[in-house]
Amino acid sequence: MIKNSFKPEEEQVMENEVVSKNFIETEIDKDLAEGVYDTVHTRFPPEPNGYLHIGHAKSILLNYGLAKKYGGKFNLRFDDTNPTKEETEYVESIREDVRWLGGDWQDREFYASNYFEKLYEYAEQLIKMGKAYVDDLSAEEIREYRGTLTEPGRESPYRNRSVEENLDLFRRMRAGAFPDGVRVLRAKIDMASPNLVMRDPTLYRIRHAEHHRTGNVWCIYPMYDFTHCLSDSLEGITHSLCSLEYEIHRPLYDWVVSNVSIPYYKPRQIEFARLGIDHTVMSKRKLRQLVEEKLVSGWDDPRMPTLCGLRRRGYTARSIRNFCERIGVAKSPNTVEYGFLEHCLREDLNATAQRTMAVLHPVKLTVTNYPEGQSETFTVENNPTDPTQGTHEITFGRHLWIETEDFLEMPIPKYKRLYPDGPECRLKGAYLIRCTGCVKDENGHVTEVLCEYDPNSRGGDPADGRKVKGATLHWVDADNCLDAEVRLYDNLFSDPQPDGPDKNFLDCLNPDSLMVLEGCKVERAMVDVARDFDRVENRTGINAPTFQFMRTGYFCMDNRDCTADHLVFNRSVSLKDSFKK
Ligand code: ATP
Ligand code: MG
Repeated sequence: MIKNSFKPEEEQVMENEVVSKNFIETEIDKDLAEGVYDTVHTRFPPEPNGYLHIGHAKSILLNYGLAKKYGGKFNLRFDDTNPTKEETEYVESIREDVRWLGGDWQDREFYASNYFEKLYEYAEQLIKMGKAYVDDLSAEEIREYRGTLTEPGRESPYRNRSVEENLDLFRRMRAGAFPDGVRVLRAKIDMASPNLVMRDPTLYRIRHAEHHRTGNVWCIYPMYDFTHCLSDSLEGITHSLCSLEYEIHRPLYDWVVSNVSIPYYKPRQIEFARLGIDHTVMSKRKLRQLVEEKLVSGWDDPRMPTLCGLRRRGYTARSIRNFCERIGVAKSPNTVEYGFLEHCLREDLNATAQRTMAVLHPVKLTVTNYPEGQSETFTVENNPTDPTQGTHEITFGRHLWIETEDFLEMPIPKYKRLYPDGPECRLKGAYLIRCTGCVKDENGHVTEVLCEYDPNSRGGDPADGRKVKGATLHWVDADNCLDAEVRLYDNLFSDPQPDGPDKNFLDCLNPDSLMVLEGCKVERAMVDVARDFDRVENRTGINAPTFQFMRTGYFCMDNRDCTADHLVFNRSVSLKDSFKK
């Protein structure tokens, strides 16, 4: 029998055998040795404005992995300070994806929006200390006053308002007295700072918008730079890991946590390089655009670099963990080849996926000396790399399906497959055959390939030990198979750097990234697998049953569209591997 290969992901444990230390671990070791912190507490802080992608996986696994390694804690925190872009749907998908990857936040699920009241108090604190002021300049004027890298900024005419006036205005901002955009709260730091981020950054803005958790309670919302560091501090985070673009924000991070007096707990921000992969984009904004403009079928389109898309494509959590482990963390930006991600998947599936045969571009093969109506059964290994995975049975008869490309009426040089009076070929696991001819329709298209089999080659090996010169071919019993839809994928972007300067990523899309094949032939037992898979409650949250179709690649059932009545498979990855040593 074909086994149902899907297992709940929680059965997979995290392999986290780091051999050499990365630079963050070196820093953590130092902090622990110097007594700066006595524990390690990390967090993953997604903004719930889209689905997670493989870049986020790097961050999740890094943060979770460090907490686990040092016996510390790991929080999941939704950084939900922008009411207009955030939705509950995203929160749920993020939870599902982090869990699927193996990240465990236990009961520590937090929301920046839970801190809105506290954050407001801290803002008042800053005002009372003369370290924040309400500014009436427009967003455009603020930008203008900020100056440039070569020119210092200018102070706003509202910068020196009294504490009383600032408090009054800020309270009225909160009470809804002003429309969007007319006033902001800014930190009073240094308009001449060489770091533009420190030139009186905005802390609060007015937004009359409903928030997915706090509803209409608030009409002022704190900015990232104010919220993030204080959320870290409130949660007792020790090491706040973020991507490189926040390096210039670090002085502000430190300024905020050191100037707000309760509670004075200072996490340390450490930056690392984001993950980039060629032939793809890694920004939620761009991914959302692909979804909204219907250039893909959804966030979980199997061509998307989202975790739900990769899962639907057939990527296992383990393959992504291995990938992230191997690419490591560094301080300098790097782009990884898509082929390396595929390599990690192949490696995993090679060890776990059950081998079956399927014909993607079928043409009939008739074994003319095999009696009509006769049938026999062969037992084949489920996975030659692992005998413990057992065997399953396939049937053989006079009428079979083979790949169209495995027959040529006129052979090309070095062609070792079927052609009239060509070499003896092996039907995998069954018999040796020799092509005798073909049948064509009135247009000259081959409709049937004819062959004779050697009855003394049961199992596929000749009784006399003669050398088989032709290829080994996969096949399916025409009297015991089912039709299936098979979806083949290529890079979503044909350009290796769709994110590159002076490029519109939408111009870089690959028009041939999806190929749908109908009428492919698969073993009949697949219907039982599909039926079992149908009974799974949350199909999109787990990996669908996955197989190796011999010679054509690794395939999984589509977790949305595959049913027992209409089998649909996605090719996860082909068999060819350019990364194999
Ligand atoms: P995007 O640009 O895709 O919207 P983001 O950084 O705005 O990404 P967040 O939801 O704010 O998305 O990210 C949550 C965490 O994931 C942050 O700590 C961020 O640094 C990290 N992260 C995002 N993209 C990557 C990436 N490509 N590689 C590594 N970490 C990433
Ligand atoms: Mg962000």
